[in-house]
Amino acid sequence: MDITGDAMAETRKTKVLIIGSGPAGYTAGVYAARAMLEPILVQGIEPGGQLTTTTEVENWPGDTEVQGPDLMVRMQDHAKAMGCEVIGDIVSDLNLSERPFRAKGDSGTEYVADAVILATGARAKWLGLPSEEKFKGFGVSACATCDGFFYRGQEIVVIGGGNTAVEEALFLTNFASKVTLIHRRDELRAEKILVDRLMKNPKIEPLWSHTLEEVVGTDNPLGVEAVRVRNVKSGEITEIPCKGVFVAIGHAPANELVKDQLETHMGGYVVTKPGSTETSIPGVFAAGDLTDHVYRQAVTSAGMGCMAALDAERFLAEAETAGAPEGAEHAAPLTPQD
Ligand code: FAD
Ligand code: NAP
Repeated sequence: MDITGDAMAETRKTKVLIIGSGPAGYTAGVYAARAMLEPILVQGIEPGGQLTTTTEVENWPGDTEVQGPDLMVRMQDHAKAMGCEVIGDIVSDLNLSERPFRAKGDSGTEYVADAVILATGARAKWLGLPSEEKFKGFGVSACATCDGFFYRGQEIVVIGGGNTAVEEALFLTNFASKVTLIHRRDELRAEKILVDRLMKNPKIEPLWSHTLEEVVGTDNPLGVEAVRVRNVKSGEITEIPCKGVFVAIGHAPANELVKDQLETHMGGYVVTKPGSTETSIPGVFAAGDLTDHVYRQAVTSAGMGCMAALDAERFLAEAETAGAPEGAEHAAPLTPQD
């Protein structure tokens, strides 16, 4: 470990820097550590990733049912036990223009890496309405597990028609007196097993073919009283009384660090070579929801994390034997480790 001139600014060198602590990041950590690459994993603002915002996970192989946050603690412990160093920091800047790659942490630490595995996942999308913004944190939320408890005995609406919206609606019935699921179409895209549960739940009322026009509430104190919704077929506007609005309209890739450096597609997902986690820059690998616009599951993210570590291992081995890895022409040669 080097300490640079600035007393607080530390420089950490590693063969493999993993950015992100969801299923993709931790699985990459397990595999890279077992390949003796001594990886460093930077957790980001949401240690454990998206699964920490949910309750039961029923499709993680080997666990009929497991709590999302518990699963992620287990993954973290597993990565650490294998020798992956897990650091609580947020990467605020990443320079992929030359090797070794350089990342800057919010802590002031600079990470210098021969290979980088990007596993920054995805973040909740918002509708973009001014009234949604106004009441965010005061009745408008994108996380039922975080905020559902505040709505005991109250009426709530959930916006969306995917797995997240249906799961959130079901979860919120633990607290709410009534949950209205507002969907812009008359068919849900959620899995059938979840749709069946939704339709059987007496506390949930679906409202088909409606969109949210406006969140209505009080200014002092700031709080939600109703939503104004539009029937997409007739154009009719109606008002539904509620105290909470949960927006569950999908997720967008968390690509801020790399969107100007790597090839992206389909609304910002990082492009990887088919059957691989290689990105458009040699030595930079991407795994999980950051690169996957199709499956976006914990198990597929973990699978890609494994692939990324194996790809990074092969890249570094080739670099060592050949002096410079294949495709290294645009980047500087690797520097020896400490
Ligand atoms: P994420 O889990 O999104 O993790 C991204 C990580 O990157 C986070 O740790 C974050 O802190 C970190 N990060 C981001 N930016 C930075 C940065 N600048 N510096 C450092 N770190 C950074 N899937 C299932 O298979 N089963 C389920 O039951 C299921 N339920 C779900 C319920 C909900 C409510 C949601 C939202 C999703 C659910 N999913 C489920 C989907 C699943 O959570 C995702 O597919 C999976 O978490 C993606 O893993 P990931 O590792 O790619 O990224
Ligand atoms: P999603 O599958 O993309 O669904 C988003 C939903 O929001 C869709 O129904 C969509 O409507 C609607 N929507 C999008 N933009 C909208 C807008 N502007 N206004 C109104 N409605 C809008 O997203 P998700 O439900 O968050 O799921 C993301 C991924 O995580 C998926 O791959 C999912 O399988 C996974 N996940 C899995 C589980 C599980 O396995 N149990 C649980 C949660 C999430 P349309 O249908 O009309 O497009």
